[in-house]
Amino acid sequence: MEISHDVLVIGAGCAGMRAAIEAHDAGADVALVSKLHPTRSHSGAARGGINAALGNAGEDSPEQHAADTVKGSDYLGDQDAIELFCNEAPGDIYELERWGALFDRTEEGRLAQRPFGGAGAPRTVYVADVTGHVLLQVLYEQLLARDIQVYEEYFVWRLVLGDRGCEGVLAWDLPRGGLKAIAAKAVILATGGSGRVYRGTTNAYACTGDGMALALRAGLALKDSEFMQFHPTTIFPSGLVVTEAVRGEGGFLLNSEGEHFMSRYAPEAMELASRDVVSRAEQTEIDEGRSVDGSVLLDMRHFGPEKTVERFHGTRDLALTYAGVDPLTEPIPVRPGAHYHMGGVATDVDGCTTLENVFAAGEVACVSLHGANRLGGNSLMETIVFGRRAGRAAAGRALASTAAAEIAPAARADAERELAQLLDRREGERPRAIRDELGASMHENFGVFREEGEMRRQLEILESLRERYRHVLVDDRSEIFNSDLTQALELGYQLDLAVCMVSAGLERRESRGAHSRPKDFPARDDENFLKHSLVRWKDDRPQLSWEPVRITKWQPQDRSY
Ligand SMILES: Cc1cc2nc3c(=O)[nH]c(=O)nc-3n(C[C@H](O)[C@H](O)[C@H](O)COP(=O)(O)OP(=O)(O)OC[C@H]3O[C@@H](n4cnc5c(N)ncnc54)[C@H](O)[C@@H]3O)c2cc1C
Repeated sequence: MEISHDVLVIGAGCAGMRAAIEAHDAGADVALVSKLHPTRSHSGAARGGINAALGNAGEDSPEQHAADTVKGSDYLGDQDAIELFCNEAPGDIYELERWGALFDRTEEGRLAQRPFGGAGAPRTVYVADVTGHVLLQVLYEQLLARDIQVYEEYFVWRLVLGDRGCEGVLAWDLPRGGLKAIAAKAVILATGGSGRVYRGTTNAYACTGDGMALALRAGLALKDSEFMQFHPTTIFPSGLVVTEAVRGEGGFLLNSEGEHFMSRYAPEAMELASRDVVSRAEQTEIDEGRSVDGSVLLDMRHFGPEKTVERFHGTRDLALTYAGVDPLTEPIPVRPGAHYHMGGVATDVDGCTTLENVFAAGEVACVSLHGANRLGGNSLMETIVFGRRAGRAAAGRALASTAAAEIAPAARADAERELAQLLDRREGERPRAIRDELGASMHENFGVFREEGEMRRQLEILESLRERYRHVLVDDRSEIFNSDLTQALELGYQLDLAVCMVSAGLERRESRGAHSRPKDFPARDDENFLKHSLVRWKDDRPQLSWEPVRITKWQPQDRSY
């Protein structure tokens, strides 16, 4: 029997779970489908915290939060979306708190807030350095309390398109094998980010940009896909991130000569300049030969044992295990690593896309809140504010629809044929080498700094990797937990996505936020590029167009920290 629901949410991280809870509370029959158990989603790796202008640790207001976000975005964020986000964030924090998120508190008993990069006031609410972990657990409890169905460990492979737009999904059942069809009147993409396109990344293995690629294949546009944020403090080679909260609370960066080099790049904000600025400063130090084995040093020795153990227990563990240093006595070697994709599926503030019954929220989406550079702490908040809004809108759409949710048998038969072809192939190349070359070459040619010749070379490399991928070989043909198969499918997504990213980057002939071209176009060019890139996939090629930025009250200005 075919399974069907009013609303189907793809992805069970913070965005997916928040969307499902809201769609349920709006009266829809809702289910989630996820390739991971919900609490294993990457949201759980978020440590530093979540931003809302509560004003508990210094004067603050949603207006100030919005101004900081606009500046952080290098004026590419849509200001109406930013204002709405900043106004709604405080209410969502109180709701999470009522649901059981035990945020740290001040001595007076208010929710504590720590300083974060690019923020004019301490605005980041947190639970020690395990904020994302706690939010995932709290949302999962709310899911269980509502008895919301989760199809867990199902890998969504296709959006099924029919006469009424998207009719549901086809998913590979990981523990049992076989394709399953799940029909729905409205589908919400909440599949998270795509950092695994790069070799050095903070992102979990599952962050392969699946939802962005599914959307592309369904004819939707990716917005601002050239903007990948590099986090300044990742440990090499694991890519594990040392939370920005360390710098927020006074940790500082040194080069191999012991120089506190941020004073040359951001004399006022120093380590708390926004992430693109700090990553570029580090990369410059590394490129100019003032590194220690390709890293700079993050010093938190002056925190002392009490503060380090109480607030940065997990961070100390990470440093001990993955860098072999104890931050109580030695600085931690760190370097920039791919962290957050500002670009994604273009949506409005209710998660609506241009395909009638498809919605998107969280890192997979581009509202656009972050523009060319995201501020730390804004993306956990994005999953909650825009997850909630997308859940409400999708429920409204599904409940207003009178058509039955069903998937045409032909769609399923076609997909089964295609999958059988892949599994029957006896000659070809296994995905691993292609994936490694993709990650290494993206790092080299489309990293912190970019340049015309390198980007053109990268497009050629991607073309040859895509050619090799046409003959990709899935060695393991078993039904049960066939990660060989899912990794091959993920690689296909990553290759399409990388082509879109580099194609948009090549055409953006300026430096803005995370897209920095110091050699050929070192300055921001508002006259020609104060606009969003949109990439669609047509005839197996990316097709680029542009869309204006929505400006309400903040005119672009010089951006210095
Ligand atoms: C190490 C790290 C630290 C961070 N720290 C912070 C922080 O302190 N503050 C902050 O604001 N932000 C932080 N971020 C960013 C933030 O955590 C993420 O942007 C956000 O949590 C993404 O949530 P999401 O729900 O969109 O996606 P995710 O949490 O990644 O969830 C994606 C879901 O989609 C599912 N999925 C994906 N593909 C498929 C498929 N093909 N089929 C079925 N299911 C699929 C997965 O199973 C998963 O459930 C951090 C990110 C990282 C990587």
